Amino acid sequence: MADLKPLASPQKPRIVRVAVLSPLRRSFDYLLPEQLTDAPPGRGCRVSVPFGKRKVIGLVIELTDSSDFALDKLKPIDAIVDTTPLLPESLFKLFIWAANYYHHPIGDALFTTLPVLLRAGRPLPEPAVTRLWKATQAGIDTGLALLRGVKQRALLERLIAQPLTAETALLPEYSRATLKGLAEKQFSELVCVGPQQVDLDNLLREPPLLLNPSQQRAMDAIDCHGFNTWLLDGVTGSGKTEIYLQCIEKIIRYGRQALVLIPEISLTPQTEKRFRDRFNAPLVMLHSGMTDQERLDSWARAASGEACIVLGTRSAVFTPLKRPGIIILDEEHDQSYKQQDGFRYSARDLAVIRAKQESMPIILGSATPSLESLNNCANGRYQHLRLDTRAGEALQPDWQRVDLRTEATDCGIAASTISAIRDAVANRQQVLVFLNRRGFAPAMLCHDCGHAIDCPNCDTRLTVHRRQQRLLCHHCNFSRRLLHACPSCQSQRMVAAGDGTERSEAFLQSCFPDTPVLRVDRDTTRKKNAMQEMFDTVDSGAPCILIGTQMLAKGHHFANITLVAVLDADSGLFSPDFRAHERLGQLLVQVAGRSGRGNVAGKVILQTHQPDHPLLEVLINQGYSHYARLLSDQRQLLQLPPFNQLTLIRADADRPDSAEAFLKQARRIAESILSPSPALAYLGPLPALMEKRNSRYRYLLQISGERRSDLNYLLSRLVLELEKLPAARQVRWGVDVDPQEL
Ligand code: ADP
Ligand code: ZN
Ligand code: ZN
Repeated sequence: MADLKPLASPQKPRIVRVAVLSPLRRSFDYLLPEQLTDAPPGRGCRVSVPFGKRKVIGLVIELTDSSDFALDKLKPIDAIVDTTPLLPESLFKLFIWAANYYHHPIGDALFTTLPVLLRAGRPLPEPAVTRLWKATQAGIDTGLALLRGVKQRALLERLIAQPLTAETALLPEYSRATLKGLAEKQFSELVCVGPQQVDLDNLLREPPLLLNPSQQRAMDAIDCHGFNTWLLDGVTGSGKTEIYLQCIEKIIRYGRQALVLIPEISLTPQTEKRFRDRFNAPLVMLHSGMTDQERLDSWARAASGEACIVLGTRSAVFTPLKRPGIIILDEEHDQSYKQQDGFRYSARDLAVIRAKQESMPIILGSATPSLESLNNCANGRYQHLRLDTRAGEALQPDWQRVDLRTEATDCGIAASTISAIRDAVANRQQVLVFLNRRGFAPAMLCHDCGHAIDCPNCDTRLTVHRRQQRLLCHHCNFSRRLLHACPSCQSQRMVAAGDGTERSEAFLQSCFPDTPVLRVDRDTTRKKNAMQEMFDTVDSGAPCILIGTQMLAKGHHFANITLVAVLDADSGLFSPDFRAHERLGQLLVQVAGRSGRGNVAGKVILQTHQPDHPLLEVLINQGYSHYARLLSDQRQLLQLPPFNQLTLIRADADRPDSAEAFLKQARRIAESILSPSPALAYLGPLPALMEKRNSRYRYLLQISGERRSDLNYLLSRLVLELEKLPAARQVRWGVDVDPQEL
């Protein structure tokens, strides 16, 4: 798709170019019926159009008077849904950028990110906007001296005496021409506020904290005007959130809105609370746990400018803002910012593009920044701000390793780990046990013949869930009852092999019968409020043992936790994914960051078969930033991202050979567009790490290049060719630019 051109406004536009939800990388032309030519729909307005046998909602991309198709073949649009654009021009630009960069159909990108009710054609709820006028600084300084007109002078005097006067209060006395005239001289300006008017004198519900010196240095560096990208790199508990809050305060006082993106809202109820506790200003949320109506309302309040703070997860990056002021994206390293199917965008990367397009600052925060962002600091694209110490009193944790080569475990837990837990509990402290495997055991095996029970739909073992008495697949939700006899040799000796959180929970509870053991994983938190109830127990401060998956590594502050035990530190050391080591380091540092947040120093126990692994040594003894530098050097040597551009063409099909055959063709076509060279390499088709998943056979073709421009050129041509292939109809395929997983 071409760049965004200024909206052509031919005298009598005849043709409306429309994006609809479709896998095709093109827009569709419709005729504008004669009776609508006087009030044609603008770019970003929804229209209802015939599409095949159906009627669908489309978004107007442009008005034009020429089409590549014969006019008599074009159908007329049915109806105009919006008289004013649903999406502001700035957001449209972001979608066009994203469709180009990710080589994804624009209609699909637009419609899969819009609130469901808007997709269905529901009108945008009308905001009750109050129009207020105020004198500008120029008006206050020089206006009265320069103005000749009596009416305009009187108006300015009034606005200086009464800042923020409602337009309705002015109109009986002053004409619209007077209001407009003064504004044109830039002596006054219009401020629109929603129903809940922000009272700047009482903006704060609680006083801001006095910043420590490193927070203050960061705060002084962050310029809240204009585009710039700040990487706020501070250990967990170093006070990043306090900096976000203080930047947002500034932004609201400038009359602008803040968009705050976080990885997962259900895991971090505290985040919302901290924002609400601080500000007496409208805040809206946008995440998947809301109803369609709630999402629509939040979206509308962000778009109308009523909401001062928009707090949301990944797709909230596409929320329109009337008065864009700042984007804050917390835990920027988190994988959940990358959409893993369909429109595979990175909300982090798009947030930076959006901030640039809308001339606002963006803060990316993390205790464990991604190698991408660190590299962007090294090359000067982002500004690196560090917070090296924890805010308040808390100390950095003390790391200890348990050598699993010499110590046996019971249900995944070594005896020395148990005794450390016993000490903590005896001191009335709290403990967090981390194991990134939910369920009772990761496999069910026959003791006699070794037969393992696999998922019929996926290349994986079924996980034993004892409480449910079932075997479950964690990839496709297949489920069956526990087996008592081996399907292969009929032996009755079936065993649950390995340890998951459910088994370790049971074991811990048997070791500590008088202490609550709380399990936090997807199985225990499915019920609404379950997470909150658990957090409440923990926040009460009484001794308890939390055991959970990586859900526990995120966000939540546990002031009373003094011991963190990582049961299996090895799983990340030996993965074929080139990002595995980066992830491992991030996970360990994030989990460790849960400990010792109060006034007792925390301890972290790592159970590992590789206590001397050089990477663990660096991470523990020198910290994450050295660790990241080491990994970065390796990536550079191996020409891997972020030092090289990587794109996957993914395809899956219900038969094993279709996806592979399609990608073979794709590779041939790609090579005919740009032949392989030292600067551009093809690899594959290869099976995905889990080839069969949910009864689909998955393959990928990897294209890596030194120059983004080469890849862009190649992909923009390749996707158009692929769409035309008959084989494309037998597979599901898509482009994954900057993939996060293989
Ligand atoms: P992060 O977002 O980096 O994890 P937070 O902003 O949540 O850090 O701060 C961690 C804890 O320290 C919070 O309880 C917060 O209230 C407190 N804190 C932050 N900044 C200060 C400060 N300047 N003085 C005292 N306490 C602070
Ligand atoms: Zn058997
Ligand atoms: Zn499965």
